Amino acid sequence: MHPIPEKLLPWYDKNARQLPWRSDPTPYKVWVSEIMLQQTQVETVIPYFQRFMTRFPNLASLAEADESDVLQAWEGLGYYSRARNLHKAARIIVEDHAGQIPADVATLKSLPGIGAYTAGAIASIAFGEPEPALDANIRRVTIRLLDLHDLPGNETDQKLWDFAHQVLPGERTGDYNQALMDLGSAVCTPIDPACRRCPLNSECLAFQRDTQSELPLRKAKAKIPHKLVVAAVITRGSKVLLARRPSDGMLGNLWEYPGGSVPEGTTDLKNALQDLIYARFGLSISVKSELGVYKHAYTHFRITLHAFDSELTAADQVALPADFAWVEIAELSSFPMGKVARLISRELAS
Ligand code: SF4
Repeated sequence: MHPIPEKLLPWYDKNARQLPWRSDPTPYKVWVSEIMLQQTQVETVIPYFQRFMTRFPNLASLAEADESDVLQAWEGLGYYSRARNLHKAARIIVEDHAGQIPADVATLKSLPGIGAYTAGAIASIAFGEPEPALDANIRRVTIRLLDLHDLPGNETDQKLWDFAHQVLPGERTGDYNQALMDLGSAVCTPIDPACRRCPLNSECLAFQRDTQSELPLRKAKAKIPHKLVVAAVITRGSKVLLARRPSDGMLGNLWEYPGGSVPEGTTDLKNALQDLIYARFGLSISVKSELGVYKHAYTHFRITLHAFDSELTAADQVALPADFAWVEIAELSSFPMGKVARLISRELAS
């Protein structure tokens, strides 16, 4: 066995984190947890994972569910394409793989939402396959172990995967991958790694050369763009009009209050909203008072959304666009939404 797993596995035996998907692990639990953990912190994932398991305790229940219920269980966790892909993959596994989650990396990678890292994690953790996994934590640890500074193109990636294959132990691969994840989370942290108590310090080139704090090299952060957004809260009696977003974009298939972005610096927001709703959806509205202003940051941009109380003019004659629905305000909680639409809905219902 290479000295890295030889030193790391005993450390893991003493220091492994207790996580809900690690107790009584099944391929289904491992798969759901790995998808939830993509770009999301462990602490954030735990309550979502527990609720998801209560609602969809096995693959069959997930495959049978409506997508809308899956999105609702995911609401607040973000990156909703993960939920849509998880649901699609569950149906494919039922139809094409007799309900059994595949164990090999190539088949796993053919499923929606599963890339190289996730496939390696599922194959090794759920099935003990000799496959490496390279999540953000493991990448950081490995870059430091190898003291890798900027390399052209995808050379860094190639080196990391080559090294991961080279040091992989012949047994306990899943534990080894999880040990690297835990080491990255608890010891080899992004800032101020605790090298003195690291079980791998004698193997670590960055520690020997005192470069650990500089690594991994960070790209200068681009300024996050801002969008000015307007939305119409169109009510009729006890109902409000919701629009469902297209399935293939951000917040796909989630419900929202119809609207959209307007140019920065627009001063007459009511007028801009009226024009936008007509141009996008062919609906004439009268815009009344402002209900609230909501700020939210997504990964690549942030928004300031102004929501306006509005009414359809000639409401009775209007044919609604597809994917629009009048919804009882008391039932808004059963429609999956992004953060801002949910805030507006809670205020409407209160
Ligand atoms: Fe990370 Fe330091 Fe351990 Fe190297 S010695 S793996 S930099 S914690």
